[in-house]
Amino acid sequence: MTQTAERGIGDLRAAVGGVVFTPGDDGYDDARRVWNAGIDRRPGVVVRCASVDDVRAALAFAVGNGLEVSVRGGAHNVAGGAVVDDGVMIDLSLLNQVSVDADAKRAKVGGGALLADLDAATQAHGLAVPAGMVSHTGVGGLTLGGGMGWLSRIGGLTIDNLVSVQLVTADGQVLRAAADENADLFWAVRGGGGNFGVVTEFEFALHAVGPMVQYGLLFWDVAQGTEVLRLARDVIPALSREFNVVIAGLSAPPLPFVPEQHHFRTGYALVVTGFGSPESHAEVLDRLRTALPPLFEFATPMPYVALQQTLDEPNAWGHHVYEKTAYLDELTDGAIGVLVEHLGRKQSPLSVNLFYRLDEAYSEVPDDATAFAGGRSPRYATFMVGAALAPDQLAAERDWVRTFWSALQPHAIAGEGYVNALGAEGLDTSTLYGAKYDRLARIKASYDPANLFHRNTNITPA
Ligand code: FAD
Repeated sequence: MTQTAERGIGDLRAAVGGVVFTPGDDGYDDARRVWNAGIDRRPGVVVRCASVDDVRAALAFAVGNGLEVSVRGGAHNVAGGAVVDDGVMIDLSLLNQVSVDADAKRAKVGGGALLADLDAATQAHGLAVPAGMVSHTGVGGLTLGGGMGWLSRIGGLTIDNLVSVQLVTADGQVLRAAADENADLFWAVRGGGGNFGVVTEFEFALHAVGPMVQYGLLFWDVAQGTEVLRLARDVIPALSREFNVVIAGLSAPPLPFVPEQHHFRTGYALVVTGFGSPESHAEVLDRLRTALPPLFEFATPMPYVALQQTLDEPNAWGHHVYEKTAYLDELTDGAIGVLVEHLGRKQSPLSVNLFYRLDEAYSEVPDDATAFAGGRSPRYATFMVGAALAPDQLAAERDWVRTFWSALQPHAIAGEGYVNALGAEGLDTSTLYGAKYDRLARIKASYDPANLFHRNTNITPA
């Protein structure tokens, strides 16, 4: 940081109601940490904002001193978009309030809230926003890139349920964007990531969900991978939208419901959630186990909030992670061959290959209704995640992910991928957004002509 900037820190500390951290301050190392332990960056200043005015003060400080800006929601972006060396990290974690209007089925959510905050507040009224599957993920980054999870077949992406945002632009204006106000900006934030400003509040439409939902998991050895994936391909798309199934290629965790002889065994799980009757869910599990008897299984009703936490522990903070993503129209035999071959080659028990099903409500939204980078045809989003506890174990997992992803490319939708899981290298942004890119670039030029917000899947101002 320049000397001018260092002198200005005192003014910044006096101006903000939140907390300002600089290197050497107590709490600085905690404040700069992100979910992926493989990212180790040292911002010049972290401004933990307590209000919209704090966000404006942090932006003004950055612009005035010519410093780079990063915005931290839940800090889960695997490539580390939330933190920048030497620049100003705008930390929204204190802006995590959620208020629910149960009669109107609306929630207002702070820009730094976590899914856990959102789920707790909405489920108090038996309501939910379709969002992600790990409760310590940030609402901010997840929403701005799309947002997919257990409720995608019922309610579409998180952005499909977005009603409005309050956003601070690069020049410090506080704007509302909705269908009837700054409509171009509202279109752009629904998929265009953090390119357009700092969202301080999201307003969502809510769905009646739970509070109890049905959960079932069946597990097979990787040697049966071809049969499992063919079964999944036959069953999943035909299920009504009250069901969702995640296909997970993984090592069986040493949890109480996993028989000891299968701990760390590599294989495929089908995780079947049901939002309808227990009987209809039991019938789906029965169909699967009759078609292909699993090595073990586990089924139970559980609160929706608990469902949202089932993957929290396996995805705890502090792992070293590298990921890539792709979309598949179908699980063709060619794709299945690649998947099974490569799953068997992973070395770390933490590395996984996941599939989210996207169809039904997801596919009912017209392609051009939002800036989301990805077509709305029925598909699978697949995530190849290499994860390790120690940094020196990551290289092997990174190679595994890269080789796996390359081998899958002939079977994947060309040039497309989920913005929120692109990993360190990303994809070519103009190909990613396709026909939407020019419109995004024009909107970017209106709201952020100097590209202050560029620590993201960046859209170059037109
Ligand atoms: P951050 O790293 O804080 O932010 C990510 C990006 O968004 C950054 O560029 C940041 O600047 C920007 N940003 C964040 N908040 C704001 C804001 N309020 N205003 C402006 N810009 C902002 N995705 C899914 O769709 N479904 C899932 O089930 C899912 N599960 C996941 C589980 C784990 C363990 C992880 C690590 C990721 C998961 N993701 C999932 C991907 C997730 O959507 C992205 O990692 C997303 O970037 C996380 O948002 P964040 O706010 O936590 O991250």
